[in-house]
Amino acid sequence: MKIKFCLQCNKELIGRSDKKFCDTDCRSSYHNTNRPMHEITIKQINSALRKNRSLLAHFCPSGKSTVKKEVLVQLGYRVDLFTHIFPFKNGAYFFCYEFGYLPIVDNGVHKMLIVHKQEYMNTLTFNPWKIKLAK
Ligand SMILES: [Zn+2]
Repeated sequence: MKIKFCLQCNKELIGRSDKKFCDTDCRSSYHNTNRPMHEITIKQINSALRKNRSLLAHFCPSGKSTVKKEVLVQLGYRVDLFTHIFPFKNGAYFFCYEFGYLPIVDNGVHKMLIVHKQEYMNTLTFNPWKIKLAK
């Protein structure tokens, strides 16, 4: 009989012969400690983008709405992360998948005008060399 040990804690494994870890805790710590740093970064960013998208979807149930930036940031929204942008003459929509927002200032309050992606946005051409960034 072959004796096998947990790849994480080296405890002897009992049970199915294809088992590699004693439990889910050992499995996840093994995968986290042995994963290359860039994979962890990718996973964290993907997860943050997914969360951003969920928050936008939650606060924009009918195509368009305005929410204070603070509300979303307190719930974990990361304004620095987005999948793509739609710049136009006076600003830019920052999208996370099919939801995006336009940063607006209303009486000194920073707000996010949330929109669901519109059909016409598929036809916009985006030229990164023509963006003017605010100073
Ligand atoms: Zn273990």
